[in-house]
Amino acid sequence: SLSDRLTATFKNLRGKGRLSEADVDATVREIRRALLEADVAVPVVREFTATIKERALGSEVSEALNPGQQVVKIVNEELKNVLGGETRRINLAKSGPTVIMLAGLQGAGKTTLAGKLGKWLTDQGHKPVLVASDLQRPNAVTQLQVVGQRAGVPVFAPEPGATSEFDDPTGDPVAVARDGVTHARAKLYDVVIVDTAGRLGIDEALMRQARDIRNAVNPDEVLFVIDAMVGQDAVNTAKAFDDGVDFTGVVLSKLDGDARGGAALSVRSVTGKPIMFASTGEGVRDFEQFHPDRMASRILDMGDVLTLIEQAEKQWDKTEAERMAKKFTDQEDFTFEDFLAQMQQLRKMGSMKKMLSMMPGAAGMREQLENFDEREIDRVEAIVRSMTPHERVAPKIINGSRRARIARGSGVSVSEVNQLMERFAQAQKMMKRLAQGKGVPGMPGGIP
Ligand code: GDP
Ligand code: MG
Repeated sequence: SLSDRLTATFKNLRGKGRLSEADVDATVREIRRALLEADVAVPVVREFTATIKERALGSEVSEALNPGQQVVKIVNEELKNVLGGETRRINLAKSGPTVIMLAGLQGAGKTTLAGKLGKWLTDQGHKPVLVASDLQRPNAVTQLQVVGQRAGVPVFAPEPGATSEFDDPTGDPVAVARDGVTHARAKLYDVVIVDTAGRLGIDEALMRQARDIRNAVNPDEVLFVIDAMVGQDAVNTAKAFDDGVDFTGVVLSKLDGDARGGAALSVRSVTGKPIMFASTGEGVRDFEQFHPDRMASRILDMGDVLTLIEQAEKQWDKTEAERMAKKFTDQEDFTFEDFLAQMQQLRKMGSMKKMLSMMPGAAGMREQLENFDEREIDRVEAIVRSMTPHERVAPKIINGSRRARIARGSGVSVSEVNQLMERFAQAQKMMKRLAQGKGVPGMPGGIP
């Protein structure tokens, strides 16, 4: 499978940091094969892979993914793009009934879709009616009536011989369509779904009839239904219907089979029309709005590879997050215990003033420094010793009442405790700078 082949390709590429033309070529070759196996039309494949190659070569090097995975990620994104980002909703008429006309080859799934669409719209609070404008096959009208019954949606059909409030359409699909809309308006149906005839192959008579129906009822949507199982033919069929009836949206049917759905990419690329729905079975509920992402991974048949890529990116994100978290924690870990140790270290190293004056930011504290002698360290030590072990490691909790207690315990004033808290905060800031690798110039060996 493509997954296996790509996984093998990735193995060879693993460890390389940047996308070379050879890497991209190797991956794109596999992708091309996958697209062709999914029955995407040859010219569409050619154009698509050229886009991919261009984008892959121009892309930034990912730290999370190896080159092969990166190309696949790009392919997946582009596929989703081409297949359409946002779901396109049905255009509803501003006044009067919304008219939806179905077009497509015979057997594409139009009549079945009429029922599904009717049910779906009913569930959304609409009041649809199906119109039987396929008078080509003897059983077509009956089939739509059965479909309508199953879906719980009424059907407007010509009834030869029966008395009708309308002129007998006498087998004219255009008249039936027109009458169907009139009927809907009279009976306050708000959506009219016009089922039409299809041929096994494209022919001009069929296309003219579809065009005539379209012109007669001026639909808000013309949905082109295409069987996902059709392979390379998708392009020609889609083009013919696009030229012939100028459809507004695409419905991909029979996606429940093992079709890889290449038709979706072909139709979308050639016509630029949005794929709106997917039909996934013979039942009236086997119908859903089209999901470009699902279709993308279906076409590539690489669920596992895409999952791997997702995991690799997540893992990388996690590692990065942990690294950042640790860095942050390191800064927070600077406690009064450390502060005390630093003070003692400084005392050992000689003149406190001299040492402090070498530290960045010390210039602003020069006045304070003048009064900062070695006896100060004794007081600092006394104050810190009066803190509980918890307060030493979590200075944030040292509030007013704690400061008063610490001051009493160490025999200093509360303001001296406050000053120490302030100096501590400054030292903590400095440690943050050090942790960020900014360093402290002029400190041989750095801060202990
Ligand atoms: P039409 O000629 O375009 O009206 O196509 P139909 O609606 O009559 O469908 C042709 C055949 O395909 C029928 O046997 C349907 O039951 C079947 N069919 C339609 N849509 C689907 C689908 O999404 N999945 C499957 N498996 N069969 C479908
Ligand atoms: Mg039909």
